[in-house]
Amino acid sequence: MRLSRYFLPILRETPKEAEIVSHRLMLRAGLVRQQAAGIYSWLPLGQRVLSRIERIVREEQDRAGAVEILMPTIQPADLWRESGRYDDYGKEMLRIVDRHERDMLYGPTNEEMVTEIFRSYVSSYKALPLNLYHIQWKFRDEVRPRFGVMRGREFLMKDAYSFDIDEAAARISYNKMFVAYLRTFARMGLTAIPMRAETGPIGGDLSHEFLVLAETGESGVYCHKDVLDQPVPGEGFDYSGDLDAAIAPWTAYYAATEDVHDQERFEREVPEDKRLHTRGIEVGQVFYFGTKYSAPMKATVAGPDGVERPVHSGSYGVGVSRLAGAIIEASHDDDGIIWPDSVAPFAVGLINLKPVDEATSAAAEGIYERLTKAGIDVLYDDVDNRAGAKFATMDLIGLPWQVIVGPKGIASGEVEIKRRATGERETLTIDAAINRLV
Ligand code: ATP
Ligand code: MG
Ligand code: MG
Ligand code: MG
Repeated sequence: MRLSRYFLPILRETPKEAEIVSHRLMLRAGLVRQQAAGIYSWLPLGQRVLSRIERIVREEQDRAGAVEILMPTIQPADLWRESGRYDDYGKEMLRIVDRHERDMLYGPTNEEMVTEIFRSYVSSYKALPLNLYHIQWKFRDEVRPRFGVMRGREFLMKDAYSFDIDEAAARISYNKMFVAYLRTFARMGLTAIPMRAETGPIGGDLSHEFLVLAETGESGVYCHKDVLDQPVPGEGFDYSGDLDAAIAPWTAYYAATEDVHDQERFEREVPEDKRLHTRGIEVGQVFYFGTKYSAPMKATVAGPDGVERPVHSGSYGVGVSRLAGAIIEASHDDDGIIWPDSVAPFAVGLINLKPVDEATSAAAEGIYERLTKAGIDVLYDDVDNRAGAKFATMDLIGLPWQVIVGPKGIASGEVEIKRRATGERETLTIDAAINRLV
């Protein structure tokens, strides 16, 4: 992509309304534009990041055996009357009346709708286990939308819903999502710690929240320091079996959000020098809630004995759009964002320091073409501008690599490459620079 043809609305000034660094940087780097409180447009660079995050989430859901569907954003209220949640959900739910005076709502979550789908098609234990997920916009009319996309009103969520014959089988489905979450967040360069959590309006009796530690997080957390260094299951992880061994290292340590924190137990189980009390950002949550929806909504299956019973379910959410902010909170410096390679909007920022110089431009164009042909996403700064402004913009938008092409270097056939995360620079021949990046 040529910067001269791109749409990258950078803000030079720090926006006053932004209280935390990720929000400031998302506005300054032209990732998002607020359209109303908690409602955002995703500009080109932000849209790329969002789709990279989505792709990782999707790959790990698929690996864990979940099956992708797509449910609508607008739901009929009657489904929620069946579960009893229509009145309980309160003001966070955006209620809509259509032209025929039917009560509708903008979905804040999808337990009811997916249960309706399940009961319409599945009647035998033979179809189980089943896990259906989608990645779709949600709306929650948050009292205090803030911190940019971290607490939006409209936000993108991955939500999965598992269906099993009994509690023992449902716990295996729960563990699969637990492992998938460990892998998902690790691939984004995040250390997300699973913590015992309250179940809230989703209901149920077993739940973990995954939190990224950050001073700007909205939840207070207490944990054993060693939980931070537990092994994340590898790429070839085998999802068969009960998976207890894979999650045990993570659940063995004390780790709790303030809602369920037990100070006495914390002091009993965690030696003083290992106690960590800090704040965190909730990036995902897993719930097991048994028959909370299947019983009132009559989602039953016949077991091997022919007896009908309500299916056992869990739900599993990831804050896809919130993650964009959380990743920046975890990875930035004074100059701007530092994208991990896995979610970077472009892998390489190619800077042409002197577009009016023929030799420099010919070299830069050649590098652009070769990298692009090798399948690398390059943002090519071909704009005639001051070097200082070019460097500042590249650092601000945080692409993992920069290739700097200027008349002096080109005279001796050389360019400079810079790793954004470390600031390390190297002068290389054009071929060596390309080899380094492909
Ligand atoms: P929070 O405690 O932050 O309000 P929640 O517990 O209400 O979140 P869940 O119902 O568990 O949210 O939804 C799954 C995930 O969706 C959360 O873990 C979070 O990452 C994301 N999420 C929830 N609310 C928002 C929001 N207002 N803006 C952006 N992401 C959100
Ligand atoms: Mg909430
Ligand atoms: Mg929460
Ligand atoms: Mg939650």
